[in-house]
Amino acid sequence: MALFQGKTCIVTGATSGIGLAIAEELASRQAQLVLVGRNRTAGQAIEARLQAAGHAVLYVAADLTEPSASEAVVAAAVARFGTVDVLVNNAGRLINGTALECTDEQWHQVLDLNLTSVFKLTRAVLPVMLAQRRGAIVNVASDWALMGARRALAYCVSKAALAQLTRCVALDHAEQGIRVNAVCPGDTDTPMLDLAEDNPDRAQTMKSLASGIPLGRVARPQEIAMAVAFLASEDASFMTGALMPVDGGTSAQ
Ligand code: NAD
Repeated sequence: MALFQGKTCIVTGATSGIGLAIAEELASRQAQLVLVGRNRTAGQAIEARLQAAGHAVLYVAADLTEPSASEAVVAAAVARFGTVDVLVNNAGRLINGTALECTDEQWHQVLDLNLTSVFKLTRAVLPVMLAQRRGAIVNVASDWALMGARRALAYCVSKAALAQLTRCVALDHAEQGIRVNAVCPGDTDTPMLDLAEDNPDRAQTMKSLASGIPLGRVARPQEIAMAVAFLASEDASFMTGALMPVDGGTSAQ
């Protein structure tokens, strides 16, 4: 298992679900963590819990759709730890709807977070990584970046564009020692699934989702976190521009 001793890792959307699992996985591998999220109460509680366990952690409260949030996050990371080695762009949101159902506002809300905020955070962190000619960026996309899906138009478009952003940034900066990859999770047991199915019966939602997944169940957040940690680590030193499905076989169908 690759360790991140002395490495500073920014994780966005770190206060719940997959982002929290990524934070815990990287903490267990000795990373210095900068955790980004909007929920100040949850963020400070996670920061305190990890610090009490001996981990170097800074929580930064930020809404990544605010204009200067990206620069502020990177500046806070550099001020606390001196540099940034890993950026995990995990924050994302799902709003269901077809083209007929999706309002202008919903379209912008989804694209602003899932795509534009990733572009801005990438642009903000690259000068720091380029100065040390080393860095790894891992984007949390979706199996819906690789396939179409019904009633989630804005989300699917945002994740497919994020996949292309991953490839293009990887190509632009490969010669400078920066690796950029994406994990493409399938259905994962987080609060996002409550929204995905519009179904008040969670157990029933899990059952119906599992029936469409070759491995017969949804993922645990830790299973996505381990893939993110792999791509962020030196174990993936010859990987860049890759879109890695972690979806129980869904996109192989
Ligand atoms: P989640 O809702 O538990 O987590 C989303 C995180 O993003 C939260 O911490 C939330 O606070 C944060 N966030 C939302 N808006 C933000 C904003 N404006 N600024 C900063 N942070 C913001 O859901 P999750 O399932 O853990 O999702 C994490 C990532 O995984 C997302 O990018 C999602 O698209 C992706 N994903 C999830 C699934 C799934 O089935 N759960 C499947 C494929 C991809």
